[in-house]
Amino acid sequence: MTFAGGNVHNGSASAHFVLVPMMAQGHTIPMTDMARLLAEHGAQVSFVTTPVNASRLAGFIADVDAAGLAIRFVELHFPATEFGLPDGCENLDLVQAKGLFLNFMEACAALRDPLMAHLREQQQLSPPSCIISDMMHWWTGDIARELGIPRLTFIGFCGFSSLVRYIISHNNLLENMTDENEIITIPGFPTHLELTKAKCPGSLCVPGMEKIREKMIEEELRSDGEVINSFQELETVYIESFEQVAKKKVWTVGPMCLCHRDSNTMAARGSKASMDEAQCLQWLDSMKPGSVIFVSFGSLAATTPQQLVELGLGLEASKKPFIWVIKAGPKFPEVEEWLADGFEERVKDRGMIIRGWAPQMMILWHQAIGGFMTHCGWNSTIEGICAGVPMITWPHFAEQFLNEKLVVDVLKTGLEVGVKGVTQWGNTEQEVMVTRDAVETAVYTLMGEGEAAEELRMRAKHYAIKARRAFDEEGSSYNNISWQSIKYAFL
Ligand code: UDP
Repeated sequence: MTFAGGNVHNGSASAHFVLVPMMAQGHTIPMTDMARLLAEHGAQVSFVTTPVNASRLAGFIADVDAAGLAIRFVELHFPATEFGLPDGCENLDLVQAKGLFLNFMEACAALRDPLMAHLREQQQLSPPSCIISDMMHWWTGDIARELGIPRLTFIGFCGFSSLVRYIISHNNLLENMTDENEIITIPGFPTHLELTKAKCPGSLCVPGMEKIREKMIEEELRSDGEVINSFQELETVYIESFEQVAKKKVWTVGPMCLCHRDSNTMAARGSKASMDEAQCLQWLDSMKPGSVIFVSFGSLAATTPQQLVELGLGLEASKKPFIWVIKAGPKFPEVEEWLADGFEERVKDRGMIIRGWAPQMMILWHQAIGGFMTHCGWNSTIEGICAGVPMITWPHFAEQFLNEKLVVDVLKTGLEVGVKGVTQWGNTEQEVMVTRDAVETAVYTLMGEGEAAEELRMRAKHYAIKARRAFDEEGSSYNNISWQSIKYAFL
């Protein structure tokens, strides 16, 4: 395979990467880190975005400017209204109904022509060398072929979950299963793994999505490689197995969050925090090292009001200090009422509630944090691993149940809160999945002095050290992110 791109930069061959993230926080954030890393390694980057998403990225854009990194933002008009979405609905977290997911995906695919036109214009000035795009942007495969450059797929899963997803989707394993509780054993998986249909990635397929899923799978097969935000030493056997099954190179380039070296850039990650960062740090400084549990369920998980109340009561009963990020606000007035009706007052000496967007990485890195209750989105999981904190796992949907298995059964750095069922994205009508007693027990155990908790903490620290080694100069991920590594794989 030959390249159209590649020009001379500081005397060494440099490349121009075009990054096309899915417009969802959990997909965009790691790609902003990827852009930063590629640019720090000497490449030029075009980062494709849309107006609403660009305004959310204001902190990142300012950092890039200040650091003089060669990242250009390509802002394309997002055709929301043209595809039946409300004006400005440019991110998955703004899609209010599950039924509109398909419209959103179609609007994304309509970015193909404008992006192609932009890249053609750029060809004289700075020819693109490689596209790295989210797996959901299957239509970028066409662009790469037209330009004669490779396309690498980024899915945002770890190796363990990527392998399960690949085996399931490329063998249509869920197709004839009608019962959500039917148990499936994953064939060809390096270790024994069974789970119910509902807990498998890909089971969240809204009607009409079939064609798009087929395209995604077809384009993944045609793609020139996979990029994952993990590191070789964390899950060697699963990454190697994924490479064998997918029959293509898998570049482990993570943990990409480690590109942040100070609390300012950590705080600017994703959206603008909905509280004062300095106040948050001051509060954390006032707490004993390792004493606070951080509770956050990412950007998409819709925890029901009843469940939020139950969770809060469990945190209160545990008597441990906590920071709890809730996406309540006007969406869930009954939760706001309950918080105001005594709860906040009762926990005011040891509990901080953040409504909206939290500077998660900045918080996790603080020495006061001793545990992380997470929904097991992969970004949150790898951030927890890098911060060296043990976790309480509370998956909601998608591949989160697989990440739970990796953390609890393979790495042994966390314990399950005991979620029995799936909380589907967009569904706010479900019953309580986890009782206050279960929350209390999990928090009490994880944050306590017992032998089991000590072992979890020790192992968590061990993986944090490994993560740093993989990321730092001459580490496995560091070497993978170099243009030479990518170029030579195709020569
Ligand atoms: N995040 C954050 N503040 C929040 C919620 C999320 O900084 O209040 C970040 C978090 O650090 C992670 C990403 O958003 O990098 C969420 O990705 P993840 O894969 O964990 O979950 P998702 O939101 O995709 O379910």
